[in-house]
Amino acid sequence: MIPLMRFFCFLVALALTASAAFGQNKSFQVLAFYSTNVEQDHVDFAMQAIPFFEAMAKRDNFEFKATSNWNDLNPVVLKQYQVVLWLDEFPSTAAQRTAFQDYMEHGGAWLGFHIAGWMDSRETWPWFADFLGTVFYGNSWPPLPVTLDIDDPSHPAMKGLPASYLSPANEWYSWKPDPRQSPDIKVLMTLAPSNYPLGFKDTLAGGDVPVTWTNTKYKMIYTNMGHGNKIFTSPQQNGFFEAALLWLGGRR
Ligand code: ZN
Repeated sequence: MIPLMRFFCFLVALALTASAAFGQNKSFQVLAFYSTNVEQDHVDFAMQAIPFFEAMAKRDNFEFKATSNWNDLNPVVLKQYQVVLWLDEFPSTAAQRTAFQDYMEHGGAWLGFHIAGWMDSRETWPWFADFLGTVFYGNSWPPLPVTLDIDDPSHPAMKGLPASYLSPANEWYSWKPDPRQSPDIKVLMTLAPSNYPLGFKDTLAGGDVPVTWTNTKYKMIYTNMGHGNKIFTSPQQNGFFEAALLWLGGRR
């Protein structure tokens, strides 16, 4: 009787381990939005991002699809996806914005790159300003590599990154107000003080300029990289993109 009981316990433990392992590798669906009729450096980024994430999808066992049809930002399509990416563009109609807001407020996940976080003013889309925790303020020019400091090494999206790393050439944005002031925002990466003054034609003089953050009320990460064809040249930064997406997909 006792050996049989022991065997039964063994079977239960085996089943639990197997289901936990299965949960770790459970596939999820990702839909990436991009545009081809925008600034060439932003198209270049999207054209590199798509094969980058396609390769990651094969490696990490999730489904990845990219579309330039922003009208797919609607409830019927979004229902099929666990994560949405904005590769250097943003919605332009009220219907697209409403669909995205509803998606995020009902458990959807978002990874936004570079100009995905851009708005001319808070009045354009107040919900998005609160979601992002700030509004675009200024930028550096020309694109330059920078040292980024990691604010929270314990966050799953920061897994494997050193305390600071060299991020490839990018146009860097500043924000107003500082997203760090919002109680909902957790900053993950910041421009290191050693970068200042940053830029020649357009200069970021100094201060606190967060680069990557999450709004803890949602499953989201915004990251400022995404200008030009150098973004995917850093293995460390590529590792961040992978960790961020897997975290948003519920894998970590
Ligand atoms: Zn740009």
